[in-house]
Amino acid sequence: METMFIGGKWLAPQGGETIPVIAPADGLEFDRIGRGTAHEIDLAVAAARKARAGAWGRMNATERGRILGRIGQLVLDRVDTLAPLEARDTGKPMTTARNDIIVLARYFEFYGNAADKVHGEVIPFLDGYAVQLLREPLGVTAHIIPWNYPAQMLGRTLAPALAMGNATILKPAEDTSLSALAFARIALEAGLPDGALNIVTGYGHEVGAALTAHPGINFATFTGSNEVGTMVQQATAVNVVKCVLELGGKSPQIVFADADLDRAVPIIVKAIVQNAGQTCTAGSRLLIERKVYDDVLARVAEAFSKVRVGTPEMDLDCGPVMNPEQKKRVQGYIDAAKAEGIPVVAEGAFGDGLPAGGYYVKPTIFAPVPRDNPLAQQEVFGPVLAAFPFDDEADAIALANGTDYGLLAAVWTENAGRLTRVAKAVQAGQVFMNCYGAGGGVELPFGGTKRSGHGREKGLIALEEMSSTKTLVHYHG
Ligand code: NDP
Repeated sequence: METMFIGGKWLAPQGGETIPVIAPADGLEFDRIGRGTAHEIDLAVAAARKARAGAWGRMNATERGRILGRIGQLVLDRVDTLAPLEARDTGKPMTTARNDIIVLARYFEFYGNAADKVHGEVIPFLDGYAVQLLREPLGVTAHIIPWNYPAQMLGRTLAPALAMGNATILKPAEDTSLSALAFARIALEAGLPDGALNIVTGYGHEVGAALTAHPGINFATFTGSNEVGTMVQQATAVNVVKCVLELGGKSPQIVFADADLDRAVPIIVKAIVQNAGQTCTAGSRLLIERKVYDDVLARVAEAFSKVRVGTPEMDLDCGPVMNPEQKKRVQGYIDAAKAEGIPVVAEGAFGDGLPAGGYYVKPTIFAPVPRDNPLAQQEVFGPVLAAFPFDDEADAIALANGTDYGLLAAVWTENAGRLTRVAKAVQAGQVFMNCYGAGGGVELPFGGTKRSGHGREKGLIALEEMSSTKTLVHYHG
């Protein structure tokens, strides 16, 4: 079971143990991956250090960019094989999986093109001095990604790190490691030097914990739960290593009475149903101005009741959730809200003939949800929408900001002044105005405030996050 990609070679885990790979669509095992240990993390860190000291560390930015560009093109060339693999591994509809692979390619295209455009600065200083600011790689970077968008996340985190010349170590989620392993073969084929990319599969509490606590890493990025993000920050702090955390959200869609509903309604439904709601940027709260509350809710409910859930091959609106724990968690929120008497406004439906062992849940809208209810405050990570009325602009802002999270928000109104005022007042890393973007958008700086995390990914800003500056002060008289 050679699923450790270390120093350009495929290795079996030292312990010889494997982990089953289960398809969420039917609950059946269809592959196995290696269960890595701290030993493989030691090997990966050593291989990455060697790469930094060798061919990869010496390579100029233009050549690095060319390799990244070749990777992007090869990913695009293989979309017909990578998309079904990703769909089987995650359960998502085939069209979504295909889009994820295209976005993966786009990350490598974008950062490949940017690699040799990272300029330093000349800083005015005292007479007789010349000061330069150089931008340098951090060294060995650690990347821990979750199971919801494995291919996209891989591109988001690895492409900027490699563009800056870092040597990388990836720990994919144990549920969804297959696209990362397929990607490693592409990176090799594209000419990425040995050790610039290392992949160690296994359990988070084993290899993830060993990686983030390793004294040989210089940086870590993590996307996932608050609980584990906190552990990552603590582990990296011990070695005074910087980390970027992306920990999810409870993103509001704020709909004012004058909103263009023909445009807004389908986007509002898609933003919570996409990827079975397992999207950190899912629009999981719908805030509606009270005077149009009934009308807007009725229109959203009508569209929502047409949502269909199916297997990847059925390619409907929504697939299964990731695993039995996730199903239990999402269903638990739905059952608890029903038991409390919170009205169900609409439900989606299962497509015909779903496999009995799959992890399916019915997309559901609840409204009105009390503002302090778990559905209003906690990340469900499933296709569950909570709706609320608000009275005026101030109330909308208070409601939007009334959770621990601050990742993304959307404002829907035809009043340009209000659009800007509310967008500025909302606590979030990204605010969409009369539009929404959950995922994609590789050009757009992305990340959260409050408990949604810190640091930024995507866009050119990621190149700053994944590099360090050095100031050269030259006295020339
Ligand atoms: P986790 O936070 O446990 O997993 C995210 C990643 O961290 C995975 O690669 C996991 O590995 C790894 N990991 C787990 N434990 C450690 C550790 N001690 N040190 C380092 N890495 C570790 O998320 P879950 O899969 O448990 O999902 C639970 C909830 O988290 C979801 O219901 C959702 O609310 C939230 N979540 C948010 C995401 C987001 O995009 N913001 C993405 C995924 C989940 P492995 O899976 O192999 O154990």
